Amino acid sequence: MTDLTKLTIAEARDGLKNKDYTSLELTEAFIGNIEAANKALNAYVTVTADKARDMAKASDAKLASGEAGALEGIPLGIKDLFATRDVHTQACSHILDGFKPPYESTVTSNLWADGAVMLGKLNMDEFAMGSSNETSYYGPVINPWRKQGSNQDLVPGGSSGGSATAVAARMCMGATATDTGGSIRQPAAFTGTVGIKPTYGRCSRWGVVAFASSLDQAGPIAQTVRDSAILLKSMASVDPKDTTSVDIEVPDYEAAIGKSVKGLKIGIPAEYRMDGMPAEIEELWQKGIQWLKDAGAEVVDIAMPHTKYALPAYYIVAPAEASSNLARYDGVRYGLRVPGKDIVEMYENTRAEGFGEEVKRRILIGTYVLSAGYYDAYYLKAQKVRTLIKRDFDLAWQNGVDAILTPATPSAAFGVADQALHSDPVKMYLNDIFTVTVNMAGLPGISVPAGLDKDGLPLGLQLIGKPFDESTLFQVGQVIEDAAGSFQPEKWWS
Ligand code: GLN
Repeated sequence: MTDLTKLTIAEARDGLKNKDYTSLELTEAFIGNIEAANKALNAYVTVTADKARDMAKASDAKLASGEAGALEGIPLGIKDLFATRDVHTQACSHILDGFKPPYESTVTSNLWADGAVMLGKLNMDEFAMGSSNETSYYGPVINPWRKQGSNQDLVPGGSSGGSATAVAARMCMGATATDTGGSIRQPAAFTGTVGIKPTYGRCSRWGVVAFASSLDQAGPIAQTVRDSAILLKSMASVDPKDTTSVDIEVPDYEAAIGKSVKGLKIGIPAEYRMDGMPAEIEELWQKGIQWLKDAGAEVVDIAMPHTKYALPAYYIVAPAEASSNLARYDGVRYGLRVPGKDIVEMYENTRAEGFGEEVKRRILIGTYVLSAGYYDAYYLKAQKVRTLIKRDFDLAWQNGVDAILTPATPSAAFGVADQALHSDPVKMYLNDIFTVTVNMAGLPGISVPAGLDKDGLPLGLQLIGKPFDESTLFQVGQVIEDAAGSFQPEKWWS
């Protein structure tokens, strides 16, 4: 039989309906890959093999009786940030030790309602803070890609590093992920996978462990543009439990795939050209521009003058919200408790031991920028900058731009421990220079694999869209995917 783990979701959906194989066979194939690869790649923090088998059997029954949902029998991995009932949910932090929620996030509920099968929980940066998946309490995730002729371990990006690695190494068909400043798109770019952060409000945040609530959005990482469209359709919904979720019908995203981009206006912002950016990133961008022109799109230069303020403003807004959200971890309600002589000492001991270095740094920065005397100078100013960033985008849309094309990241994947957070956190933060603008403006953004660098590592291009216009991103993204081809790492890990 062919290797079932090589299939796309779209192909498996057809194969399951045709009874070419069962969901149980498909699920067993992925469990086999996880067992063979997880020691080397560390993508999963918990594998729910028995649950997966039970869900697959239930899917097979539904497939047999003709009641199949849109994702019936498709095995997925779930980022550890999503609450999954009675299953490990720790945001890969020590402070949530042993936490198994008695409830299910809305996004995962939607997936199970459509018939998807859960393989387990995926590794990530602690509380989704990071760009390399090195802040996880469970250790770093390793990128399945290596430089040609090298056996150095590379990072998969972060914070959804487990999701990206699991998809790239075929340890699941697709994965859930979240993106506060780039955590879907940057790991997708580092692993040759597709990742989309939808518009703020498109997916419910209910049951997703909160990092920075005005920026957090869930979205999928998948092997192809079509697969990410299929997954987002199931993940997205309005939800009375998240008042920031929006009551706009979820379109059939797949219908956008294959549609011509003739006549679409694609904006190119010169401000996404950074000093010291490798020439290959610029070349990739030019290649992308040419592909879209060849497909009939009109390419125009646009100005985004506030781009350079996005990263500093993000590193005020996101830590401010994080310091408030993370106040709830006090040793009383969830997870870890480290005793002390009184309740205050118990709080202190628990938080001192439970949070990692980077999380503590964010709490300190956030508390500082919100404190009396500094609030106006930092937090309020950052909020004003946020409005200006959004205005840059509004202007582009008003001028008839349909989507914006930029590089996804300023470099390819780097080595584990090469950008040590403790020595120079800003260097790590710069990984998100092209992605944070999108979160600050609440817009959808997709990263599509577009080529390999001189070392043979994948690079991604980012498309940014109008609010709730994910369809155009899938439409244009497919043109890039068709032109660039798909990229698979060479298997060295089992
Ligand atoms: N790398 C960014 C940060 O550390 C973004 C993380 C994310 O999108 N969750 O804050």
